[in-house]
Amino acid sequence: MKYVGAHVSASGGVFNAPINARSIGATAFALFTKNQRQWKAKPLDEETIEKFKANLKESGIDPKHVLPHDSYLINLGHPEEEKWKKSLDAFIDEVKRCELLGLDKLNFHPGSHLKKISEEACLDRIAEAMNITLNETEGVTLVIENTAGQGSNLGYRFEHLAHLIDKVDDKSRVGVCLDTCHTFTAGYDLRTREVYEKTMKEFDTIVGFSYLKGMHINDSKPTLGSRVDRHHSLGCGEIGWEAFRLIMNDPRMDDIPLILETIDESIWKEEIEALYNLTDRQEQP
Ligand code: MN
Ligand code: MN
Ligand code: ZN
Repeated sequence: MKYVGAHVSASGGVFNAPINARSIGATAFALFTKNQRQWKAKPLDEETIEKFKANLKESGIDPKHVLPHDSYLINLGHPEEEKWKKSLDAFIDEVKRCELLGLDKLNFHPGSHLKKISEEACLDRIAEAMNITLNETEGVTLVIENTAGQGSNLGYRFEHLAHLIDKVDDKSRVGVCLDTCHTFTAGYDLRTREVYEKTMKEFDTIVGFSYLKGMHINDSKPTLGSRVDRHHSLGCGEIGWEAFRLIMNDPRMDDIPLILETIDESIWKEEIEALYNLTDRQEQP
């Protein structure tokens, strides 16, 4: 069974996200639990938490199919001590917000070396931050998103994800989110059955499908291997429908949130329908 949704708005309060998800026929969703462009947020109060849980229950969406995304400001690989610590504190706060909302995952971008330290040193800082976070929190899995490798962002090679997993002490609380746009622009092709299987085999060998906790389903404006992060609506970019058909029929993507971050939210409902219509067997919820 596939669970498909989009990164919906939580404007007005996190409790609006499940309602927004259902209004587009989603069976999964992503959200920011705070303003993603600000460091500070007011703590979640009891009423907000209860409203979120009630609306989530009402939506019929399982908490495990919700994939919260952290703030864009956080850089767990920051080369400077003070800024690394600021990111770490904000990250721990985000995990605690997920805990309070009854959610079991937090999706994050690994981090950037800002051309000041080596890739390896940066990955080690990220892993250290993940270990500290895991020690200070409970019940939330840290889901590392692969990246396009734009600028000095790490996470564009499957080896980077494996390096982080290897250095994390509690393997039961670490996972990976594959973004199709990032995968493709990082140089892993998905456009035909043959190259799709090759990419997925490489992912399985280096990272392992047991760590796959979610996917971001996006077409790509830039070309294969361009290392540029620009999403497009499904079927409108360089990747094309075949890759999405392969994903929708791949049992390795069963029971995890599959989240659209495509650029035109007015067609998310149609995109979700189109994805379900690609399935060979009847998988409609
Ligand atoms: Mn992301
Ligand atoms: Mn993404
Ligand atoms: Zn992206």
